[in-house]
Amino acid sequence: MNSTTQFPALLSSITIGSHTLPNRTLMGSMHTGLEALDRGVERLAAFYADRARGGAALIVTGGFAMNLEALLDEHGPQLITPEQADALRPIPQAVHAAGGKIILQVLHTGRYGKTARLVGASNIPSPINRRVPRALSTAEVWQTIEDYVRCAELAMRAGFDGVEVMGSEGYFINQFTVPRCNNRDDAFGGSQENRHRLAVEIVRRTRERLGPQALLMYRISALDLVEGGAPAHETIALAQAIEAAGADVINTGFGWHEARVPTIAYVVPRAAFRFGAARIKRAVGIPVIASNRINMPEVAEDIIASGDADMVSMARPFLADADFVRKAAEGRPDTINTCIACNQACLDYIFTNRPATCLVNPRAGRELEFDEMPLSTAKRRVAVVGAGAAGLACAVTAAERGHDVSLYEAGSDIGGQLNLARAVPGKQEFDELVRYFNVRVKQEGVQLHLGSRPGAAELASARFDRIIVATGVRARTPQIAGIGHAKVVGYADLLAGRKQAGRRVAIIGAGGIGFDVAEYLLNDGGAHGANPSEAAVASFFSEWGVDTAPDVAGGLKAQVAPETGREVTLLQRKPEKPGRSLGLSTGWALRAGLEQRGLRTLSGCSYERIDDDGLHLRVNGEPCLLDVDTVVICAGQDSENSLAGELRALRVDCEVIGGAQHAAELDALRAIDQGTRVALAI
Ligand code: NAP
Ligand code: SF4
Repeated sequence: MNSTTQFPALLSSITIGSHTLPNRTLMGSMHTGLEALDRGVERLAAFYADRARGGAALIVTGGFAMNLEALLDEHGPQLITPEQADALRPIPQAVHAAGGKIILQVLHTGRYGKTARLVGASNIPSPINRRVPRALSTAEVWQTIEDYVRCAELAMRAGFDGVEVMGSEGYFINQFTVPRCNNRDDAFGGSQENRHRLAVEIVRRTRERLGPQALLMYRISALDLVEGGAPAHETIALAQAIEAAGADVINTGFGWHEARVPTIAYVVPRAAFRFGAARIKRAVGIPVIASNRINMPEVAEDIIASGDADMVSMARPFLADADFVRKAAEGRPDTINTCIACNQACLDYIFTNRPATCLVNPRAGRELEFDEMPLSTAKRRVAVVGAGAAGLACAVTAAERGHDVSLYEAGSDIGGQLNLARAVPGKQEFDELVRYFNVRVKQEGVQLHLGSRPGAAELASARFDRIIVATGVRARTPQIAGIGHAKVVGYADLLAGRKQAGRRVAIIGAGGIGFDVAEYLLNDGGAHGANPSEAAVASFFSEWGVDTAPDVAGGLKAQVAPETGREVTLLQRKPEKPGRSLGLSTGWALRAGLEQRGLRTLSGCSYERIDDDGLHLRVNGEPCLLDVDTVVICAGQDSENSLAGELRALRVDCEVIGGAQHAAELDALRAIDQGTRVALAI
């Protein structure tokens, strides 16, 4: 189908201030950590240029500090001096050469700062930072405004097309907008006008000094999602004041970093927060940008076509696929490598001081490394055994490189463990990953053999140049008396729907899969995830206490725990609190949601036996009986690599990847990265 008929609104041009953009997509700001690496600016230039080439109409960089107090940590990006501006020039140059536009985000982290210099509107600490900010004097606030403006001027000197003033997510500017963290009695505290003065003065003075040509974007906190946050009428008043002060466009953000509501994790329905952008759009004359959990062109098209917003901001989806827009424009949305909102390789990497990449796209943030890999031009015959995440990534990458690839899968479908993940409520985005691989397998001409389990002798006689064993993992069966009892169910059988669980359930093993199984058991029909329907959004808002009424402070209301009809106990042997292995930026939401639905957890368990009475165990040495109908085993996995041993016995070389190589801590991130890299090295 032709692009413009499929996504006419999304792909129509728009004029923002003095700039005309070819379509309605914004690559939103995200921290990448690339700047801290050797050749950091070169890496960032390559990263953004890839996205501009792929059709992103406008890009916003990660946040740059305008003074030392504004830094999140000592290594964060800063733009304070002309020399720093000149060093950044390759970034806008590369984006412009690729046909795109890029603006620099000016960010002050305020009381979220991790340095000893942190400052704020008042000396009120954030609940997620034990450091206490120093309250700025009135003169220092005016100086900080000047620092914002100077930083914007430096961005223009570096060649950027403009700036985004970061006024959301609970950072410095937000810390002035509401009394929650602003008890000042000067021109920047008290009345609404005073609390908004910082934001308005930054925009007004930046416009004055930069002139009409610079693109000036303000990112507003459309919904604070914290107690004592702004009611909608205050947010609207701020948006109108920002427009009057000279902003060209308003971008939206949802939820402060300390909010108890997930806003970008996979459990959030697609485009759930579009109402927040629509509310602002109705109140201002300049374009407004919707954001959060917009990851496919259909959703984006609907937002623009319905008039809820003028543009859509996507950050992670451009990490997942630099060619998102080009593929949509060519009428090939099914070839988009969709962001599954897992946060595993982007936010979780940043939170653990590793440069961001992407679970579904290992090239993201590694453009220089991938482009500089020495690649062979010889065409090889390659066999890949196992069509789970590692095998799929390996097969499609090898085929894309021109090799002749046969992919064998014992099951009736591709996907392996990905098919179990997609059965978990809220994780339906994994469907997109399996869809993507299905399309790629066909597109790259991989010869796919489903229901096929080739033996070592068969592979040996076919004389492949390379054999890759990606046969995955098998569930571990713990040695517990009565493990063969009818009450016992393996997680794979449960998630695949081959077996059912009763009303009272014990789960042995509290790793990622134990938690996923708890979610599966306690969230019957309550799945949100990829579903953008009004019912899914309403159910999500009810469960997490999001109020869409206009005059509610912070947009919060009481949470309503969904009925579950089940009693579930999650067990582990370790004495520590369960859930430590979960992703940093998604695990808290999973734990909080399950806690609401009544999940009970026990640590320090030793399992004794399973019989008609239930599960007999000791908890911290004390005997205990769990009178349950079902015991689900989620005790980890062991590698399934017998094929490799058989091949080696025949003196046939092979390479073992993914879970078959190393089962512990295997996830799709490691599997896809390894599969891709092994294929590139063929
Ligand atoms: P896992 O994370 O290794 O957890 C296995 C659990 O089983 C642990 O709680 C372990 O705790 C217990 N266990 C291990 N051996 C046992 C035995 N012999 N008897 C009884 N209990 C035993 O494995 P998984 O949960 O299967 O997850 C597999 C991989 O997928 C992991 O890398 C995980 O990170 C990833 N994953 C992540 C997520 C997520 O982050 N949301 C979701 C799904 C999967 P004790 O030893 O303390 O009992
Ligand atoms: Fe999206 Fe996950 Fe990739 Fe992050 S790591 S961009 S959340 S798919």
